Amino acid sequence: MKQVDITIQNETGLHARPAKTLVNLVKQFKSDVVIWHGEKKANAKSLISVLTLGASKGSQLSIEVKGEDEETATAEIEAAILSGLGEGESASESQHKAPASPSPKVEETPVESKPVKANMLKGVGAAPGIAIGPVYQFQHQEIPINEMSDGLLLGWEGLQDALARAREQLSKLNHQMTERGLKAEAAIFDAHLGLLEDPELTETVHERIQKGQDALKAWKETIEDSAVVVAALNDPILSARADDLRDVGRRVLKIMVGAEDKADALPDKPVVVVARELSPSDTVSFNKDFVLGFCIVNGGPTSHTAILARALGLPAIVSVDESVLKLETDSYIVINGSDGMVTFNPSPEELQAAEQERNTWLEKRRLALEQANAPAITADGHEVEVVGNAGSLADAEKALKMGAAGIGLLRTEFLFLERTTAPTEAEQYDVYRPIAETMGKLPVIVRTLDVGGDKPLPYIEMQHEENPFLGIRGIRLCLSRPELFREQLRAILRAAQYGNLQIMFPMVGDIEEYRRARLMLDELEIELKVPCIVAGIMIEVPSAALMADVLAKEVDFFSIGTNDLTQYTLAMDRGNSLLSARQDGLHPAVLRLIAKTIEGAHKHGKWAGICGELGSDPYAVPILIGLGIDELSVTVPSVPLVKAQVRDLKYSELQPLAQQALECSTAREVRELVKKTLSM
Ligand code: PEP
Ligand code: MG
Repeated sequence: MKQVDITIQNETGLHARPAKTLVNLVKQFKSDVVIWHGEKKANAKSLISVLTLGASKGSQLSIEVKGEDEETATAEIEAAILSGLGEGESASESQHKAPASPSPKVEETPVESKPVKANMLKGVGAAPGIAIGPVYQFQHQEIPINEMSDGLLLGWEGLQDALARAREQLSKLNHQMTERGLKAEAAIFDAHLGLLEDPELTETVHERIQKGQDALKAWKETIEDSAVVVAALNDPILSARADDLRDVGRRVLKIMVGAEDKADALPDKPVVVVARELSPSDTVSFNKDFVLGFCIVNGGPTSHTAILARALGLPAIVSVDESVLKLETDSYIVINGSDGMVTFNPSPEELQAAEQERNTWLEKRRLALEQANAPAITADGHEVEVVGNAGSLADAEKALKMGAAGIGLLRTEFLFLERTTAPTEAEQYDVYRPIAETMGKLPVIVRTLDVGGDKPLPYIEMQHEENPFLGIRGIRLCLSRPELFREQLRAILRAAQYGNLQIMFPMVGDIEEYRRARLMLDELEIELKVPCIVAGIMIEVPSAALMADVLAKEVDFFSIGTNDLTQYTLAMDRGNSLLSARQDGLHPAVLRLIAKTIEGAHKHGKWAGICGELGSDPYAVPILIGLGIDELSVTVPSVPLVKAQVRDLKYSELQPLAQQALECSTAREVRELVKKTLSM
């Protein structure tokens, strides 16, 4: 065994990214590596374990390495720690970093979530549709650990059985979601499986059991200790891991106490579930017949609950003021997942109106699906291309069934995340080619890698960034890693020979970035002897929108990423749940940038589309068309609905409406204008 004592050099200690860097390095060796920090001990192949060491700058660590490659492993680990674990040693880099703290509690009431009428609240619509029914205040059932542990000492064996059963359940859930083509949802349960395999988790429990604790308590406390530490790391990706840990922990506990079939039960009648938060396991375990919709205090539109609610086809509202938690169980509530409005204790008139609205909505959805393949042409003959956003072959297949005229945004990050090495050109080609073949002549716009900053890749060494959203992300990252970028471009160019693939670059801020990327593409086209590919850019940065008329001279098209464009225009972090109710792409400031982008594109005979969430918003569709948008790339389930909506509109009426919207003062005014003008 080799042993080395070392002092942590980097500013943030073994937190978040440096810990990931260390764990990924250690995993490359066969040797077992143990890190001691005072009394605390960590398995260096377990991220959770390393994080729970709580080592900060200046901490003295003792590292023990045992195994066939211990010499090399020790040397490389020591060198990596001494060089700052990819974070650099500059004290100034992170001295202003906010201290690690648990995820912020929602204390500030977002302005827009103040009551609109006395019995109304405004949240954020996360899954469309209208639900009307009695409130069910959902709380997790207490798992009766004390009773069980008094009578029955569950040991290591008992835990192993429970873990095996939990793995079985999670594999089944993962399989079910995959079969239904729900890749993102499947990934949630896959991540839970990964957590169960974290060696440290089980080892810590094992030690506690050996010291005389019973398995139930040992498991519960280990999970909670780890979750608290992980949640406090001020890292959005890892905070989500803390929720996942608690969720998976509960699953195993329930199995151990024999309560797995006792759902955190809902009554045996249909209800609207109101909760502070729901775990993915809660959301899928509810009997769909008894859930009319979800009304949740925490989480944003991209939270697990929102994703799964959309997959289940149930209306959902998130980021609702926490006063909803005080509503009486069985009192009536109406939630509108399309506009985020919650009406509690509705009057008989309000109830009647809501019922009518719900019936109209259901009928609309039925008709839209029936006519999914009809083109999206307004009543006065103006055609808009409605295409889908995809992240996998399954999404593309579903988009086709839903009547999409192509894929307007193929996100490729999923190929690069959650792995320890970059995907090879061949691996990427094997993914892009079937998508190109499936879509045939229809266009598929492949967005090149959009990571970095908030979504770091473990196999790319990156400097610590104070503001990752303003750092090396998107095209900036790709241009700084030309080898990685070329591999992806080659894979896309080769796959493009089997269909109608086009390329777009994310986060482009100025023309130089586009020129450098285009030049690389041109060189590769010559090298591979393939025809010139259509290449456009995403407009997600205000500078690009303002310079659209200049950019349009050189690029083939624009696709406006309103999720990022809104965040950068309004200076509101898109992941900040305190601000999610105010993050509205219909803000006139964002609309003016969209108008400028479309104008710039048309001036040079290019087209402009939207691929952010705004394109699926029924209040935004009329404005965007009125501004002259050529293409709407929307979430796959929204494709038929948006197409149907386009057919109901008149372009000649939308043009003046859009001009009026540009003159509004707030997003709310724009929404009211659309509502009033189009009687929505
Ligand atoms: C956007 O920013 O609007 C967009 C479509 O890209 P992403 O959501 O993947 O950042
Ligand atoms: Mg974006």
